[in-house]
Amino acid sequence: MGHMLGDTVMDILVRFHRMRGDATVWVPGLDHAGLATQVEVRRRLQKQGVRLEELPREEALREVERWKEEHERRILEQTRAGGFSVDWNRYRYTMDPASVRATREAFVRLHEAGLVYRGERMVNWDPKLRTAISDLEVVHSEEDGALVYLRYPWADGSPGGLEVATVRPETIFGDVAVAVHPGDDRYRTLLGREVIVPLTDRKVPIIADAAIDPVFGAGVLKVTPRHDLVDHEIYQRHPTLPMPPDILDDSGHMTSDWVPEAYRGLDRDDARARTLEDLEKAGFLLRSEPYRHSVARSERSDAVIEPRLSTQWFVRMRPLAAPVVEAVRRGEIRIHPERWERSFYRWMEEIQDWCISRQVFWGHPIPVSHCRACHREIASIDPPKACPQCGSVDLEDDPDVLDTWFTSWLWPFAILGWPERTADLEHYYPTSVLVSGRDIMFFWVARMMMAGYYFRNARPFSDIYFTGMVRDEQGRRMSKHLGNSPDPLDVIHERGADAMRFALVFPNPTDEDGPFGTPALDGGRNFLTKVWNLVRFTLSFVPAGAAPPGVPPALPPSSALENRWVLSRYRRAREEVDRALGEFRPTQAATVLHDFLWHDVADRFVEIAKESLLGRRGEGAQREARETLLYVVERSLRLLHPFVPHVTEELWHALPHADTVLALSPWPAADEAPADPVAEVEMEPLLETIRLLRNLRSEEKVPLDAAPKAWVRPAGPEVERVLSREKATVVRLVRLGSLELLGPSEAVPAGTGRRVAAFGECFLERPVATGATAEALRREREKLHALLEKTRSRLADPGFRDHAPHEVVEEAEAKAAELAERVRRIDEHLKQDGASPGATP
Ligand SMILES: [Zn+2]
Repeated sequence: MGHMLGDTVMDILVRFHRMRGDATVWVPGLDHAGLATQVEVRRRLQKQGVRLEELPREEALREVERWKEEHERRILEQTRAGGFSVDWNRYRYTMDPASVRATREAFVRLHEAGLVYRGERMVNWDPKLRTAISDLEVVHSEEDGALVYLRYPWADGSPGGLEVATVRPETIFGDVAVAVHPGDDRYRTLLGREVIVPLTDRKVPIIADAAIDPVFGAGVLKVTPRHDLVDHEIYQRHPTLPMPPDILDDSGHMTSDWVPEAYRGLDRDDARARTLEDLEKAGFLLRSEPYRHSVARSERSDAVIEPRLSTQWFVRMRPLAAPVVEAVRRGEIRIHPERWERSFYRWMEEIQDWCISRQVFWGHPIPVSHCRACHREIASIDPPKACPQCGSVDLEDDPDVLDTWFTSWLWPFAILGWPERTADLEHYYPTSVLVSGRDIMFFWVARMMMAGYYFRNARPFSDIYFTGMVRDEQGRRMSKHLGNSPDPLDVIHERGADAMRFALVFPNPTDEDGPFGTPALDGGRNFLTKVWNLVRFTLSFVPAGAAPPGVPPALPPSSALENRWVLSRYRRAREEVDRALGEFRPTQAATVLHDFLWHDVADRFVEIAKESLLGRRGEGAQREARETLLYVVERSLRLLHPFVPHVTEELWHALPHADTVLALSPWPAADEAPADPVAEVEMEPLLETIRLLRNLRSEEKVPLDAAPKAWVRPAGPEVERVLSREKATVVRLVRLGSLELLGPSEAVPAGTGRRVAAFGECFLERPVATGATAEALRREREKLHALLEKTRSRLADPGFRDHAPHEVVEEAEAKAAELAERVRRIDEHLKQDGASPGATP
């Protein structure tokens, strides 16, 4: 569902820009997900009792290919079913021949520039998958372990020994020293003395290093340079120390002649148990304490990471990162939502060299050969036939493959033909927008930016939009690991692609971690049903052969208020959708369209305009209402198209239309429909009167078939003008017997229910006398009075008056005055009825 969310956002942007006439290209593609894929295939074979590593290479590759093809088919099916308007002619895969070429080219260029190097470095080793993995694939968690205190006996035979604490006793065989802090008075005189590594006869010196924490354990650290990052750094600061052999092999088993015979070949967990047992027997184990500490595990296999000194390929990242940080600071690349900029900068500023070699078989081979004769390292795009240095043909290919991201980071230009200078590359690079889940901000997005500046000397895109993470109805993040994501194909089959798309965008913001499930899908379906019915209703008034709406109907000033109002509302909705999509806020755009179509058009306009549409107000009024409705509905379908392409396309074809497909029709132009602020202002008291009288009808329990009398006392002459003109509409929509407007001092008829609003007062004839009206008024008064008190105490606070902006204070004052007036009027009514009004405001 995370992919569906990203794809939906991309499709909204692409369709919006395509309709606006912008040059758009959306390239679909898949990566080969080297390590992840191999892990999945390994797991599948394991269930059949087969070990992937034991298969002949060809057969293993065939298994992986088969798995890839099944998943590729499924993913592409999801893309098609979701209605995502990608350019299928440009479909790319990170292991297709063009990607192979681009990957080798990039490696060789970086190698020539000295930005790729082979070195012995500490890496995160996954002994289960037998490969190095990147820092980003390591998960840290607090786990319970034991801190054991060991006695390292003095080398000179003196009694006692040095107390050393460790959580990994099995690694003592790789020790080359024990270290203390140079300022630690307890040990100052011991520096230079030697101790014996327990269970062996090897002597190691006591050294001083500032990295030692004097308060951890006994303040003494055993130094195992091949199996710990800090120890390796200490080792580098003390050049006289020897480098030990690896005491753990690539699968985490004890090895080398530094390890006593008894432990060789043991798995590291068994070795730990066995070592502890023997240490205790031999009297070297002083004590053991429960200890909670941070443990690093492999995200792919869950194995505990073995920090390991290993020869790997690295990319120097600092020179690549610098121009990217600069570009973001300058605003050349913008990150949306902006709040992700901080984590972006933090990571970029602390960036480490990137270990790009993987000890798996599924991936691009590292394009390097080693000359066995002169040991030259030959990086070349085409595999070399002979050594360029000594001419020897005795060459050996590098055994490792490249991290998948080493191909993916080239994506923005590799998909356009790079390294060839193709027309596509010239035309579309730099691209505009990258939409991604923020979980791959560093794996992918930041690296694409680095590759863009390095290989193309230009930004890969101008805007990055990070979507949120989709959660399930219980609020858990959907993941492959939890298996709590529905299959998008099932969702589409059951609910339709458009309901799914709308549910992913509305009402939860696409950049927040929102829940996806039945309520959102129901909301999407209900909205689409509303739109469907609105178009069917519209069609019932459109004569056969009617012309498609070209320009907005030219309405005379005398035209019905609702026509002028809905056109003006449409104009505003269009503006807001444009702005929201331009600012990467798809949810805001969807909300505007949802509210406009549902409330303004389907509910209000259609209800009010029905008389005209049915021809009961004459032919001219009928034509104006019909043209207005058709225009607004047709234009709204265009605005809604990027969100729900299937339903809008289908409905649009039922309406009179000129273009061949909605997807390629122009986006409605700005300023096409007239702004009519007067109509918008006038509509308010009309809608409010209808709402209040309807509420009164239901509160007063007026029978459905009754047509009660109503009165309105308008607050001013403008409201009076509007209501006297629109009287018939109110009478019809509230099903009244009559409606009369009262002057400011005119007596209120007896036996009526009352409501007070900003525009005036409403009165409705009661079916039978009840105390409910007085009760409703008292409740209303209580509510208003509480609000008034709150506003007044806010105004009485000197802090508010001194610090709040001028307009805010003024607004609060106006609100207090209005509330006081409304309370006063209610009191008047209650007094007339002989009821007790309550405290005077
Ligand atoms: Zn050579």
